[in-house]
Amino acid sequence: MLTLGIESSCDETAFALVKDGKLLDSVISTQIDIHALFGGVVPEIASREHYRLIGYLYDSLLAKSGIDAAQIENVAVSRGPGLLGSLLVGVGFAKGLVAGTNKKLIGVNHLHAHLLAAGLEQDIKLPALGLLVSGGHTQIFLIRAADDFVELGKTLDDAAGEAFDKVAKMLNMPYPGGKFIDQLGKLAAPDKKRFTRPYLDNTNLNFSFSGLKTALSLYIEAHPHLKLPSLNGVDELFNGTREVAELAELCASFNFTVADTLRVKMQRAVDQRKEQGDAINSIIVAGGVAANSVIRDTMAEVAKNNKLTLTLPSLSLCTDNASMVAYMGEQLVLKGYSHGLDLDAIPRGRKIPQDYLHSLC
Ligand code: ATP
Ligand code: MG
Ligand code: FE
Repeated sequence: MLTLGIESSCDETAFALVKDGKLLDSVISTQIDIHALFGGVVPEIASREHYRLIGYLYDSLLAKSGIDAAQIENVAVSRGPGLLGSLLVGVGFAKGLVAGTNKKLIGVNHLHAHLLAAGLEQDIKLPALGLLVSGGHTQIFLIRAADDFVELGKTLDDAAGEAFDKVAKMLNMPYPGGKFIDQLGKLAAPDKKRFTRPYLDNTNLNFSFSGLKTALSLYIEAHPHLKLPSLNGVDELFNGTREVAELAELCASFNFTVADTLRVKMQRAVDQRKEQGDAINSIIVAGGVAANSVIRDTMAEVAKNNKLTLTLPSLSLCTDNASMVAYMGEQLVLKGYSHGLDLDAIPRGRKIPQDYLHSLC
């Protein structure tokens, strides 16, 4: 079965072809350089860029893969959550491809796709506890099947990736700065007591990172010499022309605090599932922040301590891509789902209905 995946929920325009659970080919264009000029994603620019590139990228995938459009059986598209204008470009394009053909259209939950992305590389052992840590979301799910995700907890304010990017921005690092914090942090040991791990004094599985962000902001205000003089200064961090020990320690301490907070909540999720008598076979960590080295190591420990398999997608499957969308679409079509041409985009902030696979909107 040949499935085309389309991703346009935020600032990547991407297409991929998946056949029987294996990735055949993919293309991706990122708008990061454009949005970096503004220090974050500008929704109107994002949707215009998707619109400008989407046809060209589709043609280039077909040319590169040697696949004829007529061979595509299913068209899977990220329908949400994401930026409405951006999602509509992908959803509209998908509808155009299936209209008047007998191809199946399938709208995919972008977050669920992130969490099952590793299925392209390895067998995923379900039921699993899934931790999604991305630019816009931090969520814990119980995943029983491709069409059975139960949200157990989520952030009440900032997402983990947002916290990384905002701290990086306070330090004058270019957007998105999460990876610079990770790289710099590797050069020092964390001060584990420097920042309080946020929102642990409760029994739930929710997160709150805004207080930690404020703590960093106050710390940086009190130590302004830690800021880079300009965005270009980021090169100096790694070429030896700038003293980085103190900044590296700050990054390591912040990174530790985020990772350890995620550790406590994931352990709590495992314990709560055990109390409920729910068997769990693995822990899945996905989304762009799953590329973070400290979080990867921390989650490996949680899995080991609980004798669970840890599933981590490779780095290119962590950040936004269409391979995960095609894969998820294929899984859903195999379970008998498909959507009509009245498929709607579901922007961030609008609750995705539990029965979103069946619903028309
Ligand atoms: P969402 O999926 O919630 O809609 P998104 O698709 O924009 O959001 P992703 O592409 O999954 O998010 O992830 C991007 C985020 O990952 C950014 O915040 C970026 O800083 C962060 N990130 C990438 N690499 C690292 C890293 N090594 N350490 C920390 N954060 C990282
Ligand atoms: Mg992105
Ligand atoms: Fe994403």
